Amino acid sequence: MPGKIQITVARSAGFCPGVKNAIDKVLELAKDRQRTIYTLGPLIHNKQVIETLKEKNILSVKSSDEIKEKGAILVIRAHGIPPEEEARIRALDLEVVDATCPLVKHVQENIRDHARKGYSTIIVGDRDHAEVIGLMGYAEGRCFVVDGPEEIRKLPRLEKANIVAQTTQEGDVFLEAAEAARGICGELSVSNTICNPTRQRQKETVEFSSKSDLVIVVGGKNSANTARLFQICARLAKSAVHIEKEDELRPELFEGVSSVFITAGASTPSWMIEKVLEKARALAESRENRLLEPLSFAWKLFITGSLYTAVAASALTYVCMKLEGAPVSGALLLMAGLFAFSLHSANRAGERGTAAPDRARKLLFIKHKTASARISAVCGAAAIFLSAALGWKVFLTAAFFWAAGMIYPLKLPRGLDKFGAFPASKDIVTALGWAFICAYAPALWHGGALNKSTHLAVLFAFLLVFARSVLFGISHAHSDMIVGNENFYKAAGPRVTYLTLFSIFVLLSGILLLLKESGWRPQLSSELLTGLIYYLGLIILFFSGRIPERITAETLIDTQFILLALLARLK
Ligand code: SF4
Repeated sequence: MPGKIQITVARSAGFCPGVKNAIDKVLELAKDRQRTIYTLGPLIHNKQVIETLKEKNILSVKSSDEIKEKGAILVIRAHGIPPEEEARIRALDLEVVDATCPLVKHVQENIRDHARKGYSTIIVGDRDHAEVIGLMGYAEGRCFVVDGPEEIRKLPRLEKANIVAQTTQEGDVFLEAAEAARGICGELSVSNTICNPTRQRQKETVEFSSKSDLVIVVGGKNSANTARLFQICARLAKSAVHIEKEDELRPELFEGVSSVFITAGASTPSWMIEKVLEKARALAESRENRLLEPLSFAWKLFITGSLYTAVAASALTYVCMKLEGAPVSGALLLMAGLFAFSLHSANRAGERGTAAPDRARKLLFIKHKTASARISAVCGAAAIFLSAALGWKVFLTAAFFWAAGMIYPLKLPRGLDKFGAFPASKDIVTALGWAFICAYAPALWHGGALNKSTHLAVLFAFLLVFARSVLFGISHAHSDMIVGNENFYKAAGPRVTYLTLFSIFVLLSGILLLLKESGWRPQLSSELLTGLIYYLGLIILFFSGRIPERITAETLIDTQFILLALLARLK
């Protein structure tokens, strides 16, 4: 029987920060405005993403002359454009949004500053690439573009020259070109402007390609940086393939293979890499064990279909009941599960990625869209019905938060659209809903709503669910799904987000210590404190950049509630 195939995905794979920023910018614009958004050239070299953007009324034009609407939005993409072109479009009746990558701007400034001091410019790159065309515009007319050391030798002698790299250039090619340039220049300034994300990607590619049997490079066939990455892999690996979509993977590729490395160009979205990983795993598994593929798909359905979230909400309710000293009520556990399932699946149906959904999402939210919506509504109604049986206070709380949760993702008429428009609103509203249903409803039912332990349990649940929602946001952003300012991660940025997540860990530990010191269920507090180590481990995992793909990430995040419930039961 053939051995297990080890599959490694490049940590640097997925949109580079420049591309991610440009896409986020246009998607934010598309969300708020009714007007068509034009981009000067395709936003990125990836057919599938361009198609999805088209559906959102984001169109690519070759020139501003093609735009007939007055006051339309025109976006300068991450590659940048020449300064004369920028001045020209800014003089037109258009709203110009500059999404040039800051790292490209840095190269533009480098070229302009040197050119003003009398240096000629040598760019090591592709002369037809948009970034290079933009850079040439800053060289004040004295510019040469070469593809490597060979072409440098054909240049005339230059008194003063500044040699720079296209940001996605291969490191060795640039260094050899700079060496060759010393022979034809009186004075040479060497500016290695290959951007950091590209360096990291290339370093990782070299390291893993040389020890892998098969390298899969994912990205558009017309993407220069993907083609360059593929050249490196083809040189170093036993075998390498460049694919645009997962359908291009064939079982024969995996024959006799024991290690696979998957990497991707700067304009390849993470969801595309995940699909390729999914297919590669399926092909590898079908070679090893035909049983695992349906099991893995069933788990995807369970997670995408919000069933695991429902279990997590019931688990948190159980923990809160224990914290409050309320008797455990099966009806309340069921109500919390139905409540979370209904809202989560309704919200999930509206979540967007930058491209076609995966198989589980397609099945649930496209093929069986109506059935899914009905199940979500029926479960919501069942939750409200159960809450009514638990008393009018529980009913009012459940009805209010269920209605708020359902209204939240809707596009409201003008005037009312401020509701839910504040930064981090999604994480706050979710945490409030869960805290009231999982922690406050048991106290309302049991009659201990004013107890100190109830207040602490509500705060405990709020903080834990807020952190959960933030981690979901990070995971979604990492998977190149559309994450707006309604997510804390997007609104506050990575540094503040992780600081907040670590502070929440300290606060949660503080609450449990307070309960322990006050003699209120000290054993339970100790068990839950042990459970918080899992939460700390999750934050460290995310913080270190080892964010797993979406399904694994969501599984790991929601498991914390189940773990806490098990610990609470053991005490
Ligand atoms: S490859 Fe580098 S310079 Fe180019 S857009 Fe991406 S981050 Fe910016």
